[in-house]
Amino acid sequence: MAELLLTKHNGAKDSHTLAFYKSVGGYAALDHALTMTPDAVIDEVKKSNLRGRGGAGFPTGMKWSFMPKNPVDAQGNPKPKYLVCNADEGEPGTFKDRLLLTQHPHMLIEGMIIAAHAIGASQGYIYIRGEFYHETQIVKAAIKEARAAGLLGKNVKGRHWNFDIEVYRGAGAYICGEETALLSSLEGRRGEPRLKPPFPAQVGAFGMPSCVNNVETFCAVPTIIKDGAAKFAAIGTERSGGTRLFCVSGHVEKPGVYELPIHMNLKDLIAHCGGVRGGRSVKAVIPGGASAPMLRGDEIDVAMDFDSLAKAGTMAGSGGVIVIDDQTCIVEAAARLLKFYEHESCGQCSQCREGSHWLARMFNRIEAGQGTAADLDKIALICGNMAGQTICAFADAVTGPALSTIRKFRAEFEEHVRLGRCPSKPEHYVRPHDHHASARL
Ligand code: SF4
Repeated sequence: MAELLLTKHNGAKDSHTLAFYKSVGGYAALDHALTMTPDAVIDEVKKSNLRGRGGAGFPTGMKWSFMPKNPVDAQGNPKPKYLVCNADEGEPGTFKDRLLLTQHPHMLIEGMIIAAHAIGASQGYIYIRGEFYHETQIVKAAIKEARAAGLLGKNVKGRHWNFDIEVYRGAGAYICGEETALLSSLEGRRGEPRLKPPFPAQVGAFGMPSCVNNVETFCAVPTIIKDGAAKFAAIGTERSGGTRLFCVSGHVEKPGVYELPIHMNLKDLIAHCGGVRGGRSVKAVIPGGASAPMLRGDEIDVAMDFDSLAKAGTMAGSGGVIVIDDQTCIVEAAARLLKFYEHESCGQCSQCREGSHWLARMFNRIEAGQGTAADLDKIALICGNMAGQTICAFADAVTGPALSTIRKFRAEFEEHVRLGRCPSKPEHYVRPHDHHASARL
């Protein structure tokens, strides 16, 4: 197994404090980065093949290089540049940023200061999920410590450069994990995605050039600068470097967060987590958070890096691996996922607002044994009218679990229709009342 780069000191007493972080070499990478030019830092991150760990997997160094060098407004006055950390970890099955925020907040702060130096930002924001109250307190305390130590604020480390970080708590909307919705929320407006272009690097927070990265992405930066890009890149594939924090949940013996090479084989990852609970077999796996299309149990001999999973017809997403055993009703699992998406659509686009609602109703109806054979084709039609037709990728994400489950487990759906009930439930099972089940589309 590869060396642990981010979670080596997990569980150590006081790992969240500045004193602990410095005692294990923390902030040495910042000292080194400040001897480098901003372009040299960006080049190093490019060479590391670090790709965004939030879901999209975009190359981090390239994203940083999109930031304008000396932006000016219409009057020729310099514009500030902002650095934003997306800590709105809300993708079902994903819980690794939470670990980093509670145990290693200084790693995140150090990564953000290095990134700010690289792109020339004067202000940073950590947009943290509203439910993360405890995590917010820890991060705020760490920022206070960093400020007192001269690592943040005016004249960072005695240089003629100011950079500070402010923490902003969200209010519980899943969609605020989408970067433009996050920026709208940060500005105090409704957390709704915006059309792109313009991209945040041109028009971001408060209309200024902004760069948004995920918590784990920033946390990987100090190790890249301290130990060199080559070491990080050598761990992964040609196009994806480093280790990744996999959040393994569902029917495994030892669920949890595992730091492993980014190209870890999915089958081996499940074995690494003790295998499937009770010695059962794998029926399906969601490999990258709820939005990632499901893989069948016979499709899991695949590497977990972004490109390999894309080739397998799914995505690495946020690293949330949900294992589903052979005793699970896939129709019910899909119906639950779609209920979540129905609730979280921001409602701006009719395709998404209506489509996610219709899909939730139809899946629920099929699961309750009240679906028809025509429903299965209608679902494909609805999904076809959603994907790629909306302001943000949320609608595409909704179609992931809907289409993948129907395509890969069609017989199970057909059996629900044929029997008029869920085959995995007792014959006279009485369902709790649900208006979705009886409503016709
Ligand atoms: Fe909102 Fe859905 Fe449109 Fe995204 S796709 S902007 S979530 S309605």
